[in-house]
Amino acid sequence: MSTSSVTVIGLGPMGRAMAGAYLDAGYRVTVWNRTASRADELVARGAVRAATVEEALAAGEVVVLSLTDYAAMYAILEPAAPALAGRVLVNLSSDTPERAREGAAWAAKHGARHLTGGVQTPPSGIGSPEFDTFYSGPRDLFERYEDVLKVITGTDYRGEDPGLAALYYQLQMDLFWTALTAWLHTLALADAHGIGASEITPYAAQTLGGMGQFLDFYTPRIEAGRHSGDVERISMAVASMEHVVHTARDAGVDPALPAAVLGAFRRAAAEGYAEDSLTRLFEVFGRGAA
Ligand code: NDP
Repeated sequence: MSTSSVTVIGLGPMGRAMAGAYLDAGYRVTVWNRTASRADELVARGAVRAATVEEALAAGEVVVLSLTDYAAMYAILEPAAPALAGRVLVNLSSDTPERAREGAAWAAKHGARHLTGGVQTPPSGIGSPEFDTFYSGPRDLFERYEDVLKVITGTDYRGEDPGLAALYYQLQMDLFWTALTAWLHTLALADAHGIGASEITPYAAQTLGGMGQFLDFYTPRIEAGRHSGDVERISMAVASMEHVVHTARDAGVDPALPAAVLGAFRRAAAEGYAEDSLTRLFEVFGRGAA
């Protein structure tokens, strides 16, 4: 289906980049944001600033939401609920799978249809097909508007359950934030020894870049439930992580992050898995908090 107009509600860095991409692609773009001034630059480029949420909803069938969370969606749309009938909400706001399901049901109650999305790039990647956004919700809706969605990034449809895109997004965030924070801790520890970020980062990039081969090696073993300690053992990981925690402590660097990892290793060892591979943690984590 060809759609020539799009409404974007939520003009943080992501929403602004999305509205900009639609302008670049020749769409008629209507924008609304709680802090109206964030629309100024887009308006100068040709976007229409809606005076009210109702006006924004009336401007076009497709309404892209780029908000901090689903609570922000209710705060904005609930007072304008009668104007939701017939709209297609493309909700690219981050939240839990359950909240995405509730959001889809809420939209349906008001006569709107809802696609959940999880964008996998920062604002700099918006408008680029090399990055993907997870989508879930009614397949017919996704297929009907796929061309419109493709203006934002490439698309990766995960299924009908509205929670799926949120779930896939949160799975990536679990990995992303943890890994990025680990890098920042490494930088702080290096810095405490007078080693600058640009000096240590090439080594960090090498370590992180090599993770793919570990993932490839361990994944079939995890799927087979095979956690034998033929390559590395949890007892070794405990000793290794103790060295990291002590190195941090000695340097006056907050050891909380490596200490949390060490805590997980020790828990697995205490449960009798000291001679197993680290992959045993997959099961230990799955049993919930210690
Ligand atoms: P921001 O949090 O900077 O912007 C969010 C928008 O939500 C703003 O327009 C803000 O309005 C609005 N908002 C928040 N709370 C309310 C409320 N109670 N009532 C009305 N409006 C509200 O987020 P980003 O633009 O950075 O990101 C948008 C979404 O995309 C988030 O869910 C984020 O997790 C996700 N994301 C972000 C990425 C990034 O790199 N930034 C990457 C991938 C996904 P106002 O301007 O008035 O404050």
